[in-house]
Amino acid sequence: MATVKGDVHDIGKNIVGVVLACNNYEIVDLGVMVPPQKILEVARAEKVDAIGLSGLITPSLDEMVHLAAEMEREGFDIPLLIGGATTSKVHTAVKIAPAYRRGQAVYVLDASRAVGVVGALLSATQKAGYVAGIREDYAQIATRHARDEAAKVRLPLAAARANALRLDWSGYAVPAPQFFGPRVIDDWDLAEVAKFIDWTPFFHAWELKGVYPRIFDDAEKGAAARALFADAQAMLAQIIAERWFSPRAVVGFWPANAVGDDIRLYSDETRSEELATFFTLRQQTGKREGRPNVALADFVGPAGTVPDYLGGFVVTAGPEEAEIAARFEAAHDHYSAIMVKALADRFAEALAEALHQQVRRHYWGYAPEESFAPDQLASEPYRGIRPAPGYPAQPDHTEKLTLFRLLDAEAATGVTLTESMAMWPGSSVSGLYIGHPEAYYFGLARIEQDQAADYAVRKGMALSEVQRWLAPVLGSASPSAPAVAA
Ligand code: SAH
Repeated sequence: MATVKGDVHDIGKNIVGVVLACNNYEIVDLGVMVPPQKILEVARAEKVDAIGLSGLITPSLDEMVHLAAEMEREGFDIPLLIGGATTSKVHTAVKIAPAYRRGQAVYVLDASRAVGVVGALLSATQKAGYVAGIREDYAQIATRHARDEAAKVRLPLAAARANALRLDWSGYAVPAPQFFGPRVIDDWDLAEVAKFIDWTPFFHAWELKGVYPRIFDDAEKGAAARALFADAQAMLAQIIAERWFSPRAVVGFWPANAVGDDIRLYSDETRSEELATFFTLRQQTGKREGRPNVALADFVGPAGTVPDYLGGFVVTAGPEEAEIAARFEAAHDHYSAIMVKALADRFAEALAEALHQQVRRHYWGYAPEESFAPDQLASEPYRGIRPAPGYPAQPDHTEKLTLFRLLDAEAATGVTLTESMAMWPGSSVSGLYIGHPEAYYFGLARIEQDQAADYAVRKGMALSEVQRWLAPVLGSASPSAPAVAA
C-alpha cells in the first residue's frame, strides 16, 4: 500500500510516516512546501491509496482546502488524511471535508491513530461503515460550529477602535536601546543556550503530552518520557561537544510610535523620517464591560505622546540540522533523524529566550536588574513580549517580510521565507519586541470584512490578497457594509 504526503516542516509528520512505514505502508515523502498539483501528480503516477497532509502554520490550512477541492475536481476518491499542529477536527469537518465529497477527508489526531484510520479506510469490509460514521460526526460538528459562530457578536471596526486599550502614557519613560538598526550576534555558546531549553514542548513534539519534569512521574507516559529524555541528553551532549549547530541571530531596534492601529518606525530619534510600518489587527469580538478590543499597536506609545521603541529579531539553529537528519535517514535511523530536528527546534526556541533576556537586560536595557534563571523563563514572567508574526495576536504572516527586510535577516542568518511565509530552516524563530510592562499576548480571534478592507488600504495590499492571508481568521460577514473607519 502506498500513501503520499507533502507538507511544511513538521516533526509530527515524520513520526506519522515512520509509524506507517513500520506497519508496512510504503511512504512517498514529498518533503516540505509541496504545491498541490505536484502532490496530485505524484499520487496519480504512483497510484497511491491515500494522501496525507500536515500543516504547521496557518497558511497551510487554506492550501489543504484548495487541495481537497482539486481532488474533487480531478475525480479522486482516495482518503485524505489531515494532521499537523495548526489543523483541527473542526477545520477538517467545516472546511476540508465539504470540499471533497467524492472521497473522505479525515482528521488524524496523532501518529498513533494513523495506522487504525488508514487501515479502516483501505479495508474493503470496514470502509463504508467507517466513512458513514465520520460523515455523521463531521456534520454535527459543522452544525454546532455554524450555530456558535452565528451567536457571536462582532463589532464594526470603528466600534472596536472606540474600545481600544488605552494605557496611561503620561509619565511613561522607557530607555532608548543601545543601538538602532540591525546587529548580528553569532558568538553563541551552545552549552549556555541549552540551559534555556524549555523541555515541555519537546515531549509534545513526540506526542507525549505532559509538563516537564512532572511527566517523568506519569503512570502511563513516565517510562517513555524518561527514556526519550535520556536519549535527548546524550545527543545534546554530542551536539554541544561536536558543535553540530551554529546558531545565528540578528536583532534590531527602531524609534517607534503607534499611529492608529499601525506601528510606525522612524529612521532616527528625530522621528521625522518614516522607515517602515508594522500593521496590526484589532479584536472585533464583543467584549464584556471593561474589557478592551486590543491590537498590538495599543502597547506602543501613540505618536506625539512619548518616545517609544520597537525591536525585532530572527534566530536560527539551522540549517545544519537538515543535513544531519538526512544522514541519519540514509542510515535508516529515523529515530535519530527526528531527534536531531526536535533538538534543533528546542535550540531555536532557547536562543529566542536567551536573546530576549539579553535584550531586556542589555541591548534595550529596560530591565537591567532582571535576575530570572534560565529555567524560570518558560512562563515568560518578565516585562515585555515578543509577539511572532503569524501567531494569534497578529495572524498575518506577511508582516515577516517587513521584519526580514529591516533586519536584512536573510543575509544575516541564512533564514529565508517560503512562498507561504514559513521560515526555512524550520528551526528558526522570529518576532517583535514590545517593552511596555502591561503588554500581553492575546488572540485576535475572528475579524470582519470591514477590517480586512481597511487593512488592505493601510498596507497597500490588494483586498483579495489580504483576504487570502487572513482567511483563517476572517468572518464572512456581508462585504456590502465596508465600514472603513477613519
Ligand atoms: N518556551 C516555548 C516558547 C515558544 S511559545 C518553547 O520553547 O517552545 C511562546 C512564544 O510564542 C512567545 O514568546 C511568542 O513569540 C509567541 N506567542 C505566543 N502567543 C502569542 C500570541 N498570542 N501572539 C503572538 N505571539 C505569540
